[in-house]
Amino acid sequence: MKQTIILLGPPGSGKGTQGEKLSEQFGYVRLSTGDMLREAVRNETSLGLKAKNYMAGGALVPNDLIINLMKEKISSLAQGTGVIFDGFPRTVEQADALGEQIDVDLALNLDVGDEELVNRLTLRRSCPQCNSVYHLLYNPPKKNNFCDKCGSTLYHRDDDKEETVRNRLKVYRDKTLPLTEYYRKAGKLCTIEGVGSIDEIFDQVKKAVG
Ligand code: AMP
Repeated sequence: MKQTIILLGPPGSGKGTQGEKLSEQFGYVRLSTGDMLREAVRNETSLGLKAKNYMAGGALVPNDLIINLMKEKISSLAQGTGVIFDGFPRTVEQADALGEQIDVDLALNLDVGDEELVNRLTLRRSCPQCNSVYHLLYNPPKKNNFCDKCGSTLYHRDDDKEETVRNRLKVYRDKTLPLTEYYRKAGKLCTIEGVGSIDEIFDQVKKAVG
């Protein structure tokens, strides 16, 4: 199986859901910059205080903050650990920095159209405790508004509200989409249509990773 995997794809394309399944089934360490940043904001760390306003508006947090954060995380991984990067890299500068530290085996790009993404994110609910995500129609929690895994009350991320979602999609197109070409040229890109049931998509993901 591939050892170092990047999940590309716009916000709402299923990176977190598919990354979580890969990590549960095959033991990958999943590193999600979005989860790390939200935790930093909640704990009001110096990173959190710097990142907060960028995140609220749907903009990217400056490269140097993200690159420093990830450098530390990557260097603390034991040799030979399978790792999934969810939400990183998001710019060419971040991809260059990652490439200096670790060899990427696969960049998995989940392709989903904009209107479907807006629909998914505006009806997405997230767990602040264990970071699980749900969709009110497609993947609702068993007990209304509570996380199936840890029982915490779910919330609607501020940046999952429609106006911010549209900005995040624009930022994705401007800053992150060029990475598909970056990894295509490197022979690392695999694009999967991220539409269908979670399990149908996961079947394709497993094929790409295996
Ligand atoms: P996500 O949960 O991956 O959608 O990330 C939520 C927000 O965190 C993004 O809209 C950005 O503001 C910020 N963020 C997450 N990952 C990165 C990254 N690699 N580079 C810059 N900003 C990021």
